[in-house]
Amino acid sequence: MKIAILSRNPRLYSTRRLKEAAEERGHEVAIIDALKCYMDITSDRPAVYYWGEKLSGFDAIIPRIGASITHYGTAVLRQFEMMGVYPINESVAITRSRDKLRSLQLLSRKGIGLPTTGFAHSVNDTEHLIKLVGGTPLVVKLTEGTQGKGIVLAETKKAAESVIDAFHELDANFLVQEFIREAGGADIRCFVLGEKVVAAMMRQAKEGEFRSNLHRGGTARLIKLNKEERATAIAAAKTMGLNMAGVDILRSERGPLVMEVNSSPGLEGIEKATEKDIANMIVTFLEKNAKPYRTRTKGSRG
Ligand code: ADP
Repeated sequence: MKIAILSRNPRLYSTRRLKEAAEERGHEVAIIDALKCYMDITSDRPAVYYWGEKLSGFDAIIPRIGASITHYGTAVLRQFEMMGVYPINESVAITRSRDKLRSLQLLSRKGIGLPTTGFAHSVNDTEHLIKLVGGTPLVVKLTEGTQGKGIVLAETKKAAESVIDAFHELDANFLVQEFIREAGGADIRCFVLGEKVVAAMMRQAKEGEFRSNLHRGGTARLIKLNKEERATAIAAAKTMGLNMAGVDILRSERGPLVMEVNSSPGLEGIEKATEKDIANMIVTFLEKNAKPYRTRTKGSRG
């Protein structure tokens, strides 16, 4: 097969591993920077150009589109879809998963366990918003935050009110969420591939910290999921329409609660914690599934 990896940096662990795994299995690989692609979107023969060259002959594409370039990156991916190239995750599903509000609404509609969450933009009734999620302690999260940077734990009503008011003042989009104390500063990352959880790790926050992000000093280890957790992770990925997803779950007294579904889950943390060759599994998945014009939300035909 000829496989494209849509990635801005060939040196990134995930990009490197995917290239390595695909080449080991005898495939041809090209790493393509979405921002360097240009397209004629009106032609009846959709094409993507890269450094003056028309790209052709690809069987499959692995999008690794950074959050900051979602809009243009998914447009490039859509163009590949219109050319009949099989994407491991479709542009529509990626766009959906990048919108936190939309994702949580979709998951909730399917009855998937979620922490009680309130969304707001310019409420003046802060007190009611706090009540809505069951009072304090609660977390306030910027919807555009990553690596645990835009999240604050408010233990008291006073603290919650000041944080919410401050976010309003900044005109930021945020959500207010029940704090799952019994998770004990740990969360579970489930790597879902084709309706199976192929690897799972537990990330534990360092002492005195509630955020388990590895970038914040959290540690990761292999974990065995129970049946309910496994089913929840698979259902969450399926609801988003993702073949490949990193589903983050909190263990709560009322069962697994989904925090986030990531459409470009990193390989480094999970491959190291579980010692599984996930890159190889991804390539094997493509070998089984990559057929021309197999996207469900077809661009040009059907
Ligand atoms: P980011 O997407 O920036 O990593 P998250 O929403 O994943 O932000 O939150 C970062 C970490 O904070 C999570 O990995 C988890 O450990 C902790 N956390 C987030 N939300 C909650 C919550 N509602 N209750 C308990 N812990 C939480």
